[in-house]
Parts: sequence; C-alpha cells; structure tokens
Amino acid sequence: MKEYDIIIIGAGPAGLQAGIHAARRKHSVLILGKPEGSALYQAHIENYFGFKEKIDGKELLLAGIFQCEKFGAEIFKEDAVKLEILEDKNFLVETEKGKKFKGKALILAIGVKRKKKIFKREDQFVGKGLSYCVDCDAWFYRGKRVAVIGDGSAALHGAKTLTQFAEKVYLIPLKEIEGMEEEFFGLPVEVIKQKPVDILGEEEVKGVILEDEKILEVDGIFIEIGAKGALELIAPLGVELDPETFSYVKVDKKMQTSVEGIFACGDLTGPPLQLAKAVGEGCIAGLSASDYIKSKKTQS
Ligand SMILES: Cc1cc2nc3c(=O)[nH]c(=O)nc-3n(C[C@H](O)[C@H](O)[C@H](O)COP(=O)(O)OP(=O)(O)OC[C@H]3O[C@@H](n4cnc5c(N)ncnc54)[C@H](O)[C@@H]3O)c2cc1C
Repeated sequence: MKEYDIIIIGAGPAGLQAGIHAARRKHSVLILGKPEGSALYQAHIENYFGFKEKIDGKELLLAGIFQCEKFGAEIFKEDAVKLEILEDKNFLVETEKGKKFKGKALILAIGVKRKKKIFKREDQFVGKGLSYCVDCDAWFYRGKRVAVIGDGSAALHGAKTLTQFAEKVYLIPLKEIEGMEEEFFGLPVEVIKQKPVDILGEEEVKGVILEDEKILEVDGIFIEIGAKGALELIAPLGVELDPETFSYVKVDKKMQTSVEGIFACGDLTGPPLQLAKAVGEGCIAGLSASDYIKSKKTQS
C-alpha cells in the first residue's frame, strides 16, 4: 500500500490549494477526487480577486491541477469510499475501485452536495436568470425584480441580502419559516404562499408560475435550499460537526477538526460557499497539515 505524508480528499479549489501549499513544503501529497465533481466546474466567476473579466471555473481547476503536479503532488481521479483511523493514528483511504492508501495526515475538502431540484427545467436556466448563490449573483439584479425560493435560514438570509440590490423581492417559502414577517418588516419583500410549479420563459427566466396559474414576473430566481455536506463518508472518522446545522465540519482557525491529524476546508466547513473562502481555507489547511507532520517527525 502506498504511503503519503498528506492525503487530500477532494479535487476542487480547496483541495487543490491545500495540495499546492503542502507540496511546496516538500511533503509527499496525494489528492483524491474528480475535478469535474467540483462545484466550480460549471461556474463562471466574476467576484474572485485579481481577474478583470469573468473566469471559467473549469479553466481555473485545470490550472490548479497543473500547479499541484508541478510542485510534486499526485492526483488520483477516483472517489474515496472509505476513510478509517488506524491504531497507529495514521489514516487509511479506500477508493471506489478498491485502491488503498495510507496517510499521516488527512485533509477533507469534499465540498457539499446540493439538495434536490425544485423545477424539472432548472438546469436549462442556470446562468440565464436562475442562481443558487445570492452572495455570488445578487449584484446582477440591481433595481430588478427577483424571487427567492427556499427554506430555513438560507432563504431568509438570501431574501434579506437581495433587498440591498433588487427593487422587489418575492420570497416563496417551501415550508413555514418562523418569524419571517417580522424579519422583513419595512423591507421590500413580499411573501408568497402558493407553491411554485414552473419557470416562465424559454431562453431566460421571465417569471415563476405558481400553483393557481398566477404568474410572478421576475428577472431572476434564486434557489436557496441550503446544502448538505458529504457527511456519510466522513462520519466514521468521528469529526465534530457544526452544532447549529449539523451539516458542516467544525474547524478551528488552523482548519484543524476535532480529530488530531484531520483538517477540513472549503464548502465543507460551511458558508459562505465561495471560491475565495475555499482557496483561503485550503491554503491554511495545507500549511497546518504540513506543521502537523513536522511536529510528528520531531516527536519520533
Ligand atoms: C453554479 C455555481 C456558481 C457558482 N458561482 C460562484 C461565484 O460566482 N463566486 C464564488 O466565489 N463561488 C461560486 N460558486 C461556489 C464555488 O464554486 C464553491 O464555493 C467552491 O467550488 C467550493 O470549493 P470546494 O473545493 O470546497 O468544493 P468543490 O469545488 O465542490 O470540490 C469538491 C471536490 O471534492 C470531490 N469529492 C466529493 N466527494 C468525494 C469523495 N468521496 N472522494 C473524493 N473526492 C470527492 C468532488 O468531486 C470535488 O472534486 C458557485 C457554485 C456553483 C455550483
């Protein structure tokens, strides 16, 4: 079984950035995962530092892989299906095709899985008036009319944020959100009680069709149903989760989880689910894992 100083689970921006920093510190580094599984793969980014024009997420990922390999990290494009802590406190990782690797430190960067779709034709409107990220796209709806469809604090936060940009915000809650009316007092938010059934439009979003066939004319639809961490894979490691949501991994400022030698970064540690945060946390996780390996070597 091949052994590495650091094994990184996830080949998105958080994992790749962790890989760049760890490999430049001359550790043996393995990155497991498929770049095409990254949230960034389909995204076009306008709010990332240093780029004057919109950047293609796929291109960024390919450049990140090139950098990782240039600094000596190995990339293995398979998913991990089992993670285990061994008696000697090293980590065992098994992939979907049965390959096994051993690591002295583990960095979890597996992002989040978004919950199921609301509309059948959702995919066709992504980037054409339909967005899953208020923090990313609110800016494009200055002075316009938008609808937020969702539940819980994600929808509440989304609608409130949008009032700073849009002229009118409709909130269509998928279930009752407690204290909603008071939250929006004095803000241009109208709560719609009917269920949304379809998107109006062909090439781009023109509105939302409600169950009573009433139409809300809007320029944009935001779907804010939160995100679910890939917790099934990491549950056996026993890392503590964020006590408020139980959806994200709890980390300290060094991206250290509650288990020694395991670090986490990116979307997996919670909102804002943004590229800049993923990259920043990846950097810290890579350096912290490196410090951990060095301290282990000094002790032995
Ligand atoms: C449509 C869209 C538009 C967006 N627009 C913006 C924007 O404009 N600005 C912005 O800042 N952010 C934007 N984002 C968010 C941004 O893409 C994410 O915050 C960022 O990609 C998170 O990085 P990550 O590395 O934590 O997770 P991800 O990029 O999701 O990467 C996770 C990686 O882990 C891998 N993985 C998962 N499970 C396993 C497993 N079992 N074994 C091995 N690997 C596994 C995946 O395949 C993937 O490689 C957008 C996202 C979407 C979906």
